[in-house]
Amino acid sequence: MTPAPVCSRCGAQRVDDSPTGEALAWVREQERGRERWLCPDCARAHVRDIEAKLPTEYW
Ligand SMILES: [Zn+2]
Repeated sequence: MTPAPVCSRCGAQRVDDSPTGEALAWVREQERGRERWLCPDCARAHVRDIEAKLPTEYW
């Protein structure tokens, strides 16, 4: 079992058995070989930053 992904920004935990299919909307990023997750809300809020490849420290 892998631990449940946690949003790297707000700390929300992903719930894999969500009936809304919300878990599928999570965004996985690879940064310097490390895996990072963003919950749907944070992903939406920062989609521009993600697309611009800004470092997360800039948020
Ligand atoms: Zn979040």
